[in-house]
Amino acid sequence: MARASSLLENRALVSGGSGFLGSHLCDRLLARGQEVLCVDNLFTGQKRNVAHLHGNPKFEFLRHDVTFPLFVEVDQIWNLACPASPIHYQHDPVQTTKTSVHGAINMLGLAKRLGAKILQASTSEVYGDPAVHPQTEEYWGNVNPIGPRSCYDEGKRCAETLFFDYYRQHSLRIKVIRIFNTYGPRMHPNDGRVVSNFIVQALKGQDITIYGDGLQTRSFCYVDDLVDGMIRLMDSPDDVTGPINVGNPGEFTMIELAETVLKLVGSKSKLVRLPLPADDPKQRKPDISRARNTLGWEPKVQLEDGLGETIAYFRKLLNE
Ligand code: NAD
Ligand code: UDP
Repeated sequence: MARASSLLENRALVSGGSGFLGSHLCDRLLARGQEVLCVDNLFTGQKRNVAHLHGNPKFEFLRHDVTFPLFVEVDQIWNLACPASPIHYQHDPVQTTKTSVHGAINMLGLAKRLGAKILQASTSEVYGDPAVHPQTEEYWGNVNPIGPRSCYDEGKRCAETLFFDYYRQHSLRIKVIRIFNTYGPRMHPNDGRVVSNFIVQALKGQDITIYGDGLQTRSFCYVDDLVDGMIRLMDSPDDVTGPINVGNPGEFTMIELAETVLKLVGSKSKLVRLPLPADDPKQRKPDISRARNTLGWEPKVQLEDGLGETIAYFRKLLNE
């Protein structure tokens, strides 16, 4: 089929659209006048994340698993479908690899048929437990192919391979964004990621679970900054394919994060040590020179401000 007609120029498909990041992306695309088809199997996504959009005539929800082919008419595709929290992606690891790999093949096939531009939500996990710090896009990573995190890490790496092969072989217009740890309102309260865990524990007065010695580092990006980076990448000229790191270069140990959350919540919860999960990366911090130079993007929201918004969200949620 030929390139989408002008009637459809504005139609975006967001796979994983009722998840944490996807729902914020749907909001932003609608706010700038686009039509949004949110495709999600609700494995980790929540209906409540997009409930406020259902009266909007430009919004449509389709319950669908991206490991199966999909026939719709759109002209840009944002491929976010995939559980992102270690607990969730390790729950059914075979399905996680299928979602990344078969999901990418199905979305790329759809993009090829429609001549649509397609963006892949890749991850800093492609760098594994990195031996280069901070991580630049040139670094090929240090990834265990057979460990408990491999279904996610290698699935995402294979998806990147597929994107670049469709680009070389079929001249598809691709965009690959490598997302570093992102947090904010609408994270699932039980999804096991560190920011939501610490905030929920602090609000409930429960012990704060530090895995290992708590000296491992992560860099935390607020969701609004991240979505801004995604949109800039999708809007960039066709020769900008990525991969592009998008994340906040501020680097914190898990103990520093816990102390900041306790201070902001005003909680007296104690820190307790639990075993470090297998293959847990020791450090992570993006080099964002490429995003700065190519997209004119850099994060604006400081950790304490973003945590404040996230704490307010969870406080309200837990009181409902
Ligand atoms: P999330 O779990 O909240 O959202 C993922 C969404 O994908 C959910 O709505 C889920 O139901 C849906 N989904 C999962 N499998 C599916 C399938 N087979 N078919 C259709 N839908 C499916 O996670 P998130 O944090 O919003 O992450 C979104 C994307 O961004 C993921 O691809 C993730 O790998 C990537 N990413 C996120 C982060 C982060 O820190 N949040 C970091 C790096 C990469
Ligand atoms: N972590 C922790 N306590 C928790 C949850 C996570 O100390 O309750 C640690 C985890 O071991 C890792 C870091 O926080 O070192 C980030 O974990 P998360 O699952 O959020 O993301 P990822 O490991 O995928 O970056």
